[in-house]
Amino acid sequence: MLMHVINIGHDVLKANDKIAEKNNRLLEKNAVLAVNIMGAIGSGKTTLIEKAIIELGDKYRIAVIAGDVIADMDAGRIAKLGVTTIPVNTGRECHLDAKLVGKALKSIDLKDIDILLIENVGNLICPVDYKLGEHLRVVVVSVTEGDDIVLKHPFIFKSSDVAIIHKKDIAEAVFASTQKMEHDVRELNPNIPVMTTSIHDKTSMEQWFSTISSFADKLKQSC
Ligand code: MG
Ligand code: ZN
Repeated sequence: MLMHVINIGHDVLKANDKIAEKNNRLLEKNAVLAVNIMGAIGSGKTTLIEKAIIELGDKYRIAVIAGDVIADMDAGRIAKLGVTTIPVNTGRECHLDAKLVGKALKSIDLKDIDILLIENVGNLICPVDYKLGEHLRVVVVSVTEGDDIVLKHPFIFKSSDVAIIHKKDIAEAVFASTQKMEHDVRELNPNIPVMTTSIHDKTSMEQWFSTISSFADKLKQSC
């Protein structure tokens, strides 16, 4: 019985991978960098997206897929910045999948954009398994989640390309050590850049912006 369940799961993921590859080809055809931003509710995903749009919006044409459980709320926040924003209602699903993203891609004029920011649904578990066709997987954790949050969710850190430890300005107040969190990420995945950020620390935010822009520039050159 258990075997059966595992097999179904495997097939579902294989089917998802295929659609994700299709999404990726479509994005590359149009030289669009897609960033999958994963993290718990309240970790700061929407704010990091807003800040990136404000900073990079002059140089790059940006669109957003907002797949939070409270999709309409986050999408509303982002749409106020004047970028194309597609809210994706996942219903009871706690993650975006390639099919949902593929559908959303149809309502975006991909020729007219350079960067697609995808806000995944707020959790650190199942978004790991569902590729969307993205080029860059970013995991965001906040110090408010406790400084053992990284070790509790090893798979998302192993499968991500960039890790962000956010809200460092309030670490002390919540008894969290950003050094421990950074160390834990490096233990799990020595190859990825780790940023310790706060919206009140300009230098740290610039690291976030330049990560996105450098990948977007690289993609443009290779397409
Ligand atoms: Mg959000
Ligand atoms: Zn899920």
